[in-house]
Amino acid sequence: MDKVSDQKEVKMKKDKQCPECHAIMELKKTTLHFEREGFYADVENVSAYICPKCGARTIPGNLAINIGNTIETLFKSAKESEVSLEDEVTPAFSGISFHKISA
Ligand SMILES: [Zn+2]
Repeated sequence: MDKVSDQKEVKMKKDKQCPECHAIMELKKTTLHFEREGFYADVENVSAYICPKCGARTIPGNLAINIGNTIETLFKSAKESEVSLEDEVTPAFSGISFHKISA
């Protein structure tokens, strides 16, 4: 009979290993910086796994996709508003700051 060897695996800890140096990464808040076609966007307080050793960052899957889509939309609307306002000197907006109000 096989040994029940996967008993250890059941205890799935949420510890994430650094892909670079294999240290245990810490879940922290960080700021992501995006730049595209003359615009830039900073997304603050993003929950990310950060390696305390080498500083590598990993954004959990769904969050990375959500942020990517949001930024994509942001850049697109910023660019469109700039194009549609060809007679105006100032663009509709040049920055968006999004924060959760702390209780
Ligand atoms: Zn590392």
